[in-house]
Amino acid sequence: MMVKHDIKSLTHEELGQYLQGIGEKPFRATQIFEWLYQKRAQDFDAMLNLSVPLRQKLKEDFTFYNRQPAEKKGAADETQKFLFQLQDKEAIETVLIPTTDRVTVCASTQAGCKFGCRFCASGIGGWSRDLTTDEIVDQILYVHDEAEKHKHLSHIVFMGVGEPLDNYENLLKAIRIVNHPAGLNIAARRITISTCGLIPKIERLSKEGLQVELAISLHGFSNDSRNVLMPVNKKYPFEDLIKVCRLYTETTNRQITFEYILIKDVTCTDEAALKLGKALKGMLCKINLIPYNKVQEFGHEPPSKEDATRFKNKLKEFGVHATIRRPRGPDANAACGQLRHTSQIKK
Ligand code: SAH
Repeated sequence: MMVKHDIKSLTHEELGQYLQGIGEKPFRATQIFEWLYQKRAQDFDAMLNLSVPLRQKLKEDFTFYNRQPAEKKGAADETQKFLFQLQDKEAIETVLIPTTDRVTVCASTQAGCKFGCRFCASGIGGWSRDLTTDEIVDQILYVHDEAEKHKHLSHIVFMGVGEPLDNYENLLKAIRIVNHPAGLNIAARRITISTCGLIPKIERLSKEGLQVELAISLHGFSNDSRNVLMPVNKKYPFEDLIKVCRLYTETTNRQITFEYILIKDVTCTDEAALKLGKALKGMLCKINLIPYNKVQEFGHEPPSKEDATRFKNKLKEFGVHATIRRPRGPDANAACGQLRHTSQIKK
């Protein structure tokens, strides 16, 4: 028997092809997309402008889940964290982050993570599997509806659990679905993919012609320093990563954001600022400095406010623009992977 996929795993184009294949008009793909992503139908029977036989056929060929979180946690700063339990008992976490000028969803792309960065809770339990396209889409849909109670969801960041570019096809399909005018219609420029630095996938992404934002988790200021914090650096070394990033900005003419965790005496030193400034000088980029959020398993400490500001100002001397990210939701375990990691639900 053929495995049934969820209807939300299909891009508009794929749905059009499917419909044509069963003798329906491809424009019905737009109608179905509107039911799924705009009118928010809860089942196929609610799709009233489709014929009864077509609804029946869809029911036979696809599943249609409305995934709901098993746990919700709100923080004082209104960051909300949701933990979804999937059919196979895997857990994924999603975060809603409202700020004054935007409402962002931080979505996961894998159950667990293979890359084992030595500051991140997501990698502690290892990797279980890639999320399917519909599992990625469902997180965004749920948070979209939650956010709608206050404000419109404006931005998506793939900075939750997992490595987005290690689940490339499913991620890109999910992006095409939420980006589609008949889908959630969220502009590609408001979607950020964050990666630990998978060079071949960054090259591939540069050729997609998508206007998405790219963020690179750099976290090291040299090959040696990055090796210690991010094992992936052994495969894709610092210098090569910087090279491919320069190439990316030149091919796409788009700015890259580097994420850089500030860890007391480890990454937040004068030497580090100097080397980082030199490495990034002249590139179309900005740096997000992220004060380390404590994870019990790792011994690191965040820097003092003064040291963080000093680091930022040192970068300025190289003409590299940096901002310090305000930590959000530590009381909701909102640092990457922390809720999933500390939750009682099976990991
Ligand atoms: N795998 C992708 C997507 C995960 S996002 C990537 O590496 O980019 C990971 C981001 O979470 C990191 O860049 C970092 O910004 C943040 N992060 C993880 N652990 C953290 C911690 N302990 N403190 C602060 N930020 C953390």
